[in-house]
Amino acid sequence: MACLFCKIVAGEIPSKRIYEDADLIAFEDINPEAPLHCLVVPRRHIATLNDLQPGDDALVGSMARCAAAIAKQRGVDQGGYRTVFNCNSEAGQTVFHIHLHLLGGRRLGWPPG
Ligand code: 5GP
Ligand code: ZN
Repeated sequence: MACLFCKIVAGEIPSKRIYEDADLIAFEDINPEAPLHCLVVPRRHIATLNDLQPGDDALVGSMARCAAAIAKQRGVDQGGYRTVFNCNSEAGQTVFHIHLHLLGGRRLGWPPG
């Protein structure tokens, strides 16, 4: 198993976990780009957004709801926050196990770089 996030899911690499359930974990990004920067990750290995299947719709919905719940818990839900899936190299994906970034706690520029 070479995938970094599969190792984090398995607990082989430590992370600061915020949330976990049967399908998902969420943990703090090791290199935060904002006061709140965490990653919501499915336990099952899916390399990119391009690999999602119709049967994954509920999983992706639960990832979005997990991010929204963390944003509320951290008090940024009303002020605003951003969720991002990077897909493949031109978008900056570096870990090929899908993850939803949750960023907040500062004003976020648009469009992103
Ligand atoms: P990507 O560039 O693939 O969209 O996002 C990968 C994210 O994973 C980056 O924000 C990076 O800081 C984070 N990351 C990379 N390695 C680790 C790690 O070992 N632990 C944690 N918690 N985050 C990591
Ligand atoms: Zn993986």
